[in-house]
Amino acid sequence: MTTEPRVIRAPRGPQKTAKGWIQEAAKRMLMNNLDPEVAEHPEQLVVYGGRGKAARTWEAFDKIVETLDRLENDETLLVQSGKPVAVFRTFPHAPRVLIANSNLVPHWATWEEFDRLDAAGLMMYGQMTAGSWIYIGTQGILQGTYETFAAAAKKHFGGSLKGTITVTAGLGGMGGAQPLAVKLAGGVAICIEVDPTRIEKRLETRYLDEVANSLQDAIKKAEGYKAEGVARSIGVLGNAAELVPALVEMNWTPELITDQTSAHDPMWGYIPPVRPDEDAGQLRAEHAEEYRARAYEAMAGHVRAILELQKRGAVAFDYGNNLRQRALEAGVENAFDYPGFVPAFIRDSFCEGRGPFRWVALSGDPEDIYATDRALLELFPEDERLQSWLTYAADQIAFQGLPARICWLGYKERDQAARLFNDMVRDGRLKAPIVIGRDHLDAGSVASPYRETEAMLDGSDAVSDWPLLNFATGIASGAAWMSFHHGGGVGLGFSQHSGLVALADGSDEAAERLSRCLVNDPGMGVIRHADAGYEHAIETARERGIDLPSLGI
Ligand code: NAD
Repeated sequence: MTTEPRVIRAPRGPQKTAKGWIQEAAKRMLMNNLDPEVAEHPEQLVVYGGRGKAARTWEAFDKIVETLDRLENDETLLVQSGKPVAVFRTFPHAPRVLIANSNLVPHWATWEEFDRLDAAGLMMYGQMTAGSWIYIGTQGILQGTYETFAAAAKKHFGGSLKGTITVTAGLGGMGGAQPLAVKLAGGVAICIEVDPTRIEKRLETRYLDEVANSLQDAIKKAEGYKAEGVARSIGVLGNAAELVPALVEMNWTPELITDQTSAHDPMWGYIPPVRPDEDAGQLRAEHAEEYRARAYEAMAGHVRAILELQKRGAVAFDYGNNLRQRALEAGVENAFDYPGFVPAFIRDSFCEGRGPFRWVALSGDPEDIYATDRALLELFPEDERLQSWLTYAADQIAFQGLPARICWLGYKERDQAARLFNDMVRDGRLKAPIVIGRDHLDAGSVASPYRETEAMLDGSDAVSDWPLLNFATGIASGAAWMSFHHGGGVGLGFSQHSGLVALADGSDEAAERLSRCLVNDPGMGVIRHADAGYEHAIETARERGIDLPSLGI
């Protein structure tokens, strides 16, 4: 018997069925993560990032929804790797949900052990915002991707990518932001993607401009746009493990080269080249070891080609998917000769606690988001990056699922924005509460030595006390729900990170929660970097008044 796939869409509007707005918000955000407009493979509960899931099984999903609807305002629901396991009486100001995803004791923190537990129904992979119910579609990463390419433009190309070509791969949930981000930074993007449906999706949502017939065609088109100084994005169907080495063979070098295939997961993320008579899914199912070996071999070849293009003058950087590590494991000894994007372009922002801050309108009405856009333009008139981003976003971004917005804000900015939203809910300028969260790609809530904490000044890259402190601080400071994950972004064994979500429902309680948790959360970014010795973070702490006993500030 075949059953129709379930189609999930979050309720909209000012009426709730749960006993409090936090419970209602958690329920709607879980559902929104699985909205077909938002999720990459909703029928499998997969939201983005390879197999990043929102709930372990459909049964677990139903139980979570049911429990959130009956949860009292002094109770907390515990979720273990996507399964609701308990409701405890806590305090009214405590988080209503606590989530732990994919965590394993360090010695066992491998994909092999995870796969064994996953197959036994004991775990799920939560990625970052998939299992913590605050994914908002590709927009969620767009501004960050734009910030990265803009920083690359500033560092290497005099402030704009105009007249440059960037080659990258992966047009998935996150990688799909790359073509638009490169374009926003003024450049031309060639994006290699092995799955035609992903190319279609990015065309439909206006993240990608056009598709080329072949690599040669893509290069020809890109060179034309480059010569005219036109910003444009071009997709090309193919396997990066074949097409990036083909660039070397063709003796053609782009100005920038990076990658956002799901290389963090060699088994389910990165797709090795297959012969026309083979099917990748079948190969994986029937010959798992051969599949894994071929994925590793492909990633090694891919990285060798990136290294060669770098030697020939391309600016190469790793885009947070752990491709270099996979190549190293497959024998490419100099895989780490090109840097990760955080030390290359983003760390200064992290020293100010700056990072992706996002919010979602539970009314479902885009007008609510446009009203918050206008309010932020007035609140931060001197922040030029924010002004140009919000103006662009309001005009150009297609919403996926519940209307949402992202922008980068730092310490002592996020709480101002959040309290303003709370006032707007209270006085009726917004039609329903606003959910406020952030990515785990963040200044102070992640330990990820090949990404957020790569090349820390004091060598403390792998210290994961910081995300644990972040998790605990969020709970102590009034977050609506908190999560602690392992393996997001770069895969099992390589990262630990914490997620925070808050709520502006117009109440005094919300105002109090927001003014604690949205100060302390970005504050963790400042103190993490101050403690590691970054002068810019120490100055930020001093100027904005953070109490740092060990530094005498
Ligand atoms: P996704 O799984 O939704 O998409 C990955 C895409 O890569 C898919 O469309 C897939 O078809 C394609 N792909 C896989 N192998 C390929 C190959 N050999 N050649 C061409 N295309 C191939 O994942 P996502 O959410 O887009 O994330 C991509 C990666 O980026 C992940 O590793 C993720 O952890 C990482 N990530 C980075 C950031 C960041 O800011 N740098 C943020 C989030 C995630």
